[in-house]
Formats: sequence, C-alpha cells, structure tokens
Amino acid sequence: MTQPTVSNHTATADRVARICGAVDELRPALVAFAQGLVRIPSLPGQEAPAHDYVAVKLRALQLDVAIVESRFDELRGHPAFNDDGLAPEGRINVVARWPGATPSRSRSLILNGHLDVVSAGNVALWTDAPFSGVIRGGRLYGRGACDMKSGVTAAVFALEALMRIGRRPGGDVTVQTVSGEESGGVGTLTTIVKGCRADAAIILEPTTLKLCPIQSGALTFRLRVDGRSIHACMKRLGVSAIEKACYLIGRLNAFDRARHLARPSPYYPDPLNIAPISVGTLSGGDWHSTVPQESVIEGRFGIFAGESVADAQQAFVAAVHDASAADPWLREHPPALEWFEGQFEAGQTDTAAPILLALATCHEAMAGEPAVMEGVTYGSDLRLFTNHAGIPAVLYGPGDVANAHTVDEFIEVEEVVTATKVLALTIDTWCA
Ligand SMILES: [Zn+2]
Repeated sequence: MTQPTVSNHTATADRVARICGAVDELRPALVAFAQGLVRIPSLPGQEAPAHDYVAVKLRALQLDVAIVESRFDELRGHPAFNDDGLAPEGRINVVARWPGATPSRSRSLILNGHLDVVSAGNVALWTDAPFSGVIRGGRLYGRGACDMKSGVTAAVFALEALMRIGRRPGGDVTVQTVSGEESGGVGTLTTIVKGCRADAAIILEPTTLKLCPIQSGALTFRLRVDGRSIHACMKRLGVSAIEKACYLIGRLNAFDRARHLARPSPYYPDPLNIAPISVGTLSGGDWHSTVPQESVIEGRFGIFAGESVADAQQAFVAAVHDASAADPWLREHPPALEWFEGQFEAGQTDTAAPILLALATCHEAMAGEPAVMEGVTYGSDLRLFTNHAGIPAVLYGPGDVANAHTVDEFIEVEEVVTATKVLALTIDTWCA
C-alpha cells in the first residue's frame, strides 16, 4: 500500500466532509424512502411492487433503469439455478446504471440488494404491524428493515449524495435490486446470465458494517432410518428407529466438530461454527406404545469456503457410512440419504482483493474506526458473483443479521446514514 501524500489526504478530507454534508442533508428523504420500502410486503414471489418503488426513485435520479424479468426457462440450465417453486410470473429485478465519465479508464462497481423478505411469522408477537415502518428511539421497525431494505436505501442515497455535490464517477455504477435471494438467488443469477459485469460488487446484506468476503454454503439432507416395530412391552425384541436416529445425530455432531477442527479460519469468531451441521426435524413412530418402525431426519449441512458441493456430499456419505458400519443394526439396514431443496455453494473473494482495501479505507474514513473483516456462516448471493461471474464481491451493509428474520426486526437509522456515507466515498474512490 502506498502512503497517502499530504495533498491526497487533504483532498480526501475535503471529499469526506462534502459527502457527509450531502448525506446529512438527505437524511429526512432517506428515512422516508426506507420507511416506504419497508411498508411494501415484498414476500417471495410478490417482490414486483417494491422494485417499482425503487425504480421510480432511480429514474428520478436520471439513471438508465431496466426492469429485468427472471425467466425460469432461461435459467434452468444454469448450474447455480435453484427453482424456488414460486410462480415465475412477476419475478422482476431492477438494473440501474449510472454511466461513468471515463469507463475505459476507470473501474466499475455493482451495488446489489435483494428486496424479497421472509414471512412475518406469528403476527401476534409483533409490537407493531410487521410492515409498519414505524420509527421509535432511532430505530426503524418492520420485516425487511434490517434484511435488507436499509442496505438498498443506503446504496440509492449514496448515488444521490454524490450527484448533489457534483461528483460523477469515472466508471459505471450499477444498482441492482433483485428478487428471490431468500429462496435461492434467481434474481442475481438473472443479472449474471444477462451479462451484467463489473470490476467488483458490494452486496448490501446486514453485516454491522463489517466486510464479509467469505460465505459458507449449505446443503439440505434427509436420512430415512429403519427400525423394527413391536409392542412396547417387548421393546428389547424390536429396534427403535428413533433411537437409531439419535445415535446418527450424535455421530453427525462428532463429524461436524472434526470438520471444523480440520479447517480453522481466522475470519470466523467461533471456530466451531463456520459451516455447521444442524438437524432441523426428527420425525418417527406412529403410536406411543409401539417401538417405532421408521424415522426421518432432515437438516442443513454447511459447506466450507473452498470446498465443492461434490466433495462435501462425498464426505457426508462417508460419515453416514462409517456411523452405520459401527452399529450392528444399521450395518444391515443402512439409512437412505437424499439431498433435497436448496443446494448452495460456498463462495469467497481473496481477502487481499483491491475492492476490500478500498472499502476498508472508506469505512475507516467515515465510521472513524478500522474495518473488521469476517466470514459469514449463511448463504447469500455472493457465491453467484464469485463462482459464476468472476466478480470479486463483498457483503457490507447496515444492520445485524441477528435482527434479521426475527419478531420486531429493526435497524438503527444512524447506521444506515453511516453506510450511505461509506458507500458514497467508496464509489467516489473505486470508480474514480
Ligand atoms: Zn438478506
């Protein structure tokens, strides 16, 4: 890294001050925009009105706005396509371009955010209506406030702030709002299949303003376990499929631990929770006084960054085989394994990638503290950029993922404002 010169430093300080001023002036409009966006219940399959809302704003900023439809017939052949089972009609995305002044000499940037939100769950548990968009104590409440409509808001207003102070980027800046991230990523995959490319992408997921260039993947598995039913009073002559399932779960936990010990990473705070295996359902038996004949385990199997889906599946098959071989009953009656629903790869950007350095520098200038780099344990659209478009990508946005998908989901408004400033300075620096 080159040392910044004094004049560079002064120039940066001036840019920081001007951007901060512009974002602060825009604050009421920014908050109102985020509230309006949260108030649109853009559940999976019903994202279109939220995209229209964003498109109106981006057109008002004079961007080249395209509405891009996710056509499942065009995506089906792609290795990263996940059919989320929702009707493909109306699955639109917004791709809005701010053309750079010197595109052949400057770097381009994609700012990507999903507008689909997960369901509100039990509405009775919420303090306000789930899509209220109410502000109380400096927090904006509502489903999607954290994940991730505030991130999208920050991106939109970062552009507006730069326009306000007459800064035009050298390279193209593209704002993408996409559908279907929560259910498998059809929206971002659509933009990739349509040929959208840039020198880097920032995905506005809630990361508490940490830089997250690594994400784990996840596979969904089902194990069917056989037993031998008999009257409960004769239990020792039967075999409980539930007890065999519990034995397998214990072995899967040991497998999980061994995988983590073999793959330490400095980018995760908990070394045993990088790509966890978790059993989500266990069902079995049909009568309380019968030894259960059958049980079914379903769960999520995490994949480490750098591990392929095929390698991970092979390791899982071997673990189930070894567990079964060590049990006299399961040796003769091995459980049937099935992969179903989402099969999501891991993804990663080189932690020395230039976009990370640029974003970290701009974060420090605006947030007043050094940037923290971390990996995330959840799946996101990052994998689509890194694995299928060759675009270095990083998750970065306001909000804590611990507040996502929860009752009374919220975001700190101040953090959205800070994110807007960081994004504006990053665009101004990266696309100079
Ligand atoms: Zn999200």
